[in-house]
Amino acid sequence: MPPSRTAVETARGPVEVTDLGVTLMHEHVFVLSADVQQNYPGEWGSEDDRVADAVAKLQKAYDAGVRTIVDPTVVGLGRYVPRIEKIARQVPLNIVVATGLYTYDDVPFHFHYRGPALNETLGVDVPDPMVDMFVGDITHGIAGTGVKAGMLKCAIDAQGMTPGVERVMRAVAKAQQGTGVPVTVHTHPGSQTGLEVKRVLCDEEGVDPRAVVLGHSGDSTDADHLSQLADAGFVLGMDRFGINLDTTFEARADILVEMCRRGYAEQMVLSQDASCYIDWVDPDVMAFLPQWHYTHLFEDVFPYLLEHGVTQEQIDTMLVDVPRRVFGG
Ligand SMILES: [Zn+2]
Repeated sequence: MPPSRTAVETARGPVEVTDLGVTLMHEHVFVLSADVQQNYPGEWGSEDDRVADAVAKLQKAYDAGVRTIVDPTVVGLGRYVPRIEKIARQVPLNIVVATGLYTYDDVPFHFHYRGPALNETLGVDVPDPMVDMFVGDITHGIAGTGVKAGMLKCAIDAQGMTPGVERVMRAVAKAQQGTGVPVTVHTHPGSQTGLEVKRVLCDEEGVDPRAVVLGHSGDSTDADHLSQLADAGFVLGMDRFGINLDTTFEARADILVEMCRRGYAEQMVLSQDASCYIDWVDPDVMAFLPQWHYTHLFEDVFPYLLEHGVTQEQIDTMLVDVPRRVFGG
């Protein structure tokens, strides 16, 4: 097993893994394009109103039974931890924040002429500054707040293992090995990118797949492929319930039913990838996603699962036991 840890860092400090309770492993508070927001703040509007809106929405999740969310908002998604810290003081929910970098393709320009990008010019292996950045977030805290990251995050999408994606993944692996915190990976199961994660993150860099959540696995309806990843030891993120633009409620729910039927409840976590505000989507489009919010699982998905043969015990396993194991080792 991955090294055993008894506490998880959250925006309000460490919480014992046994106290995490019902945990949604992939929910954002905000997803923002940071430099667009800095220059065109009109749609965002009042900071106080946004914070109050987030507090109200997160309180609603708490009232539905949620005790912990993991917010995998990292660089590339507009992470701003001082705001999260402020919100966390006003709701009883635990918010686990993350470190890492979100790209499907190239690294941000900040990294273009640093670290391994200089290897050829200098003729030596230059360590990637990302590793120290991620480790610092985990061990010392983020941007002077004192809030420490409890999760690492990277991404691979339909573009596959591009040089930039690979560089981030290897940096995340090194930070994982130095700290023991788990990793969540945005994957694109339709092109079987989980197998690329296995090759680079686990087989080559040595990260234990049991410490890795393959996010967005629930976008797939290929039960054999998902079983192959679970058999390799990974935790599957069935974590986009409510995003039913390219798929349907039933498709997302039925693959979860099938994976439970196959005995994989012990290796799945549940979430909605929702947020209080995401600036990637025209606010008018949100009307077409009425189920994309923090309590859709409780209101719509769990009743459907129970009607289709999933037991309450399996739901509790996915909500409580598997998250506890991911964080606790
Ligand atoms: Zn997400």
